Amino acid sequence: MPNRKSAVIALGSNLQNPVEQVKSALAAIDAHPQIKIEQISSLYITVPVGYDDQPDFVNAVCAVSTTLEGKDLLAALNRIEADFGRERTFRNAPRTLDLDIIDYDHQSSGNPHLTLPHPRAHERSFVMKPLAEILPDFELGEYGRAADIAARLGDDGIKLCS
Ligand code: AMP
Repeated sequence: MPNRKSAVIALGSNLQNPVEQVKSALAAIDAHPQIKIEQISSLYITVPVGYDDQPDFVNAVCAVSTTLEGKDLLAALNRIEADFGRERTFRNAPRTLDLDIIDYDHQSSGNPHLTLPHPRAHERSFVMKPLAEILPDFELGEYGRAADIAARLGDDGIKLCS
């Protein structure tokens, strides 16, 4: 692909067979003509953050290369979320599929429509642990190396999906 950029995408689901949702979402991402998945983490089971009264989540991270600009990558991911029937109800609500851009081309942006790196990724073990699994040396903007951030966050509330 000409003019390829690298990006990191986080996936999460806690409704309607979340393991299948995440696996199908990975297939949908890779099926996009301008996105190629380069690496996929294991799937993890994680306890909900922010709103407790909901099922556990299944989370994973993938590293992709893409010829899309950041905003177009986000639009493509939003379309996949919509195809998976996600309804935006309230913050931290249960969701069939959530796709976030954790990093795009190591760019930094405060744009509220696409903040880079993702503003909460470094606080979330369900993002940092899978990222550290596939790319331990990944530099997440000002927050440092993925494996170091993951180690600081620890393993509470997250385990490998068997
Ligand atoms: P959520 O409902 O939690 O998926 O949040 C989606 C909103 O966050 C959308 O309005 C996006 O434009 C915005 N947003 C800002 N930065 C990012 C990012 N890095 N990845 C995904 N969505 C983002």
